[in-house]
Amino acid sequence: MDHLALLERIKSEVEPEIGRGRLADYIPALAEVDPNKFGFAVADLDGRVVGVGDWEEPFSLQSVAKVFALALVVARDGERIWERVGREPSGNPFNSLVQLEHEHGIPRNPFINAGALVITDRLLTLTRDARGALRDFLREESGNADVDFDAVVATSEAEHGARNAALAYFMASHDNMENPVPDVLEHYFWQSSLAMSCRDLALAGLFLARHGLRADGSRVLSSSDAKRINSIMLTCGTYDAAGEFAYRVGLPGKSGVGGGILAVMPGRGTLAVWSPCLDSRGNSVAGVAALDRFSTLTGWSVF
Ligand code: GLU
Repeated sequence: MDHLALLERIKSEVEPEIGRGRLADYIPALAEVDPNKFGFAVADLDGRVVGVGDWEEPFSLQSVAKVFALALVVARDGERIWERVGREPSGNPFNSLVQLEHEHGIPRNPFINAGALVITDRLLTLTRDARGALRDFLREESGNADVDFDAVVATSEAEHGARNAALAYFMASHDNMENPVPDVLEHYFWQSSLAMSCRDLALAGLFLARHGLRADGSRVLSSSDAKRINSIMLTCGTYDAAGEFAYRVGLPGKSGVGGGILAVMPGRGTLAVWSPCLDSRGNSVAGVAALDRFSTLTGWSVF
């Protein structure tokens, strides 16, 4: 069965899951999204991409953007970043403060908020414009010059950003921030507000399936670093449900509270799915179900 026919089949199979769960409601812009949206795209290594449903509609990337920020830091900094952030699953909610205290301001991994703040801080030092570097990379890899931030979302993130500010100041108290905390927070909130469609996201993630090669054939990551980022996605990419996600889907994945998930099949391609209603851990209910069906029906899995 070709990919498009497969995606159509999966969309109808997961129909009962669409709208199940809850919208993220910590900011109005996410609480007001139509809960019945569903988009699903698959891209192959050559950049051919097909999709179904709302696959060309931009949604709020939220934590999915953390993968790209990490890739840009590793590309420039290599292994140095691992002195400031760990690589272990947290088993705690994405915005938890508890482990930070036990671990002296070193976040458990780059995909929980504390870790992503460290990555944003480093990207800011390395580029002076962390959000611009990220947006340009996503535009180039997706081939879509319209990829952009959502100012309404970014502003609301800042208005509801007390918890992220607490994380950042706590890390600063342990000398684990290089830039002024307000600057880091601002770049982090803009990063979370990036809006992309499943089409754009599947294309933008292909460098992880191509062992570090970008759309133009140049190398952004060594193949070891691409493997490492895929590994961290597998173990830490889906909040405190990474074990369940690995069990069901068997692919590296990164989710966000906008309901998007990017999954990578190294050497084969990428999958991007979006459906805004979330389970209790913050992962898209219909999105995980769709990826589960895709990997089961195609055998795409790193195992
Ligand atoms: N903007 C969100 C926050 O930092 C990101 C949440 C997410 O997608 O995990 O709280």
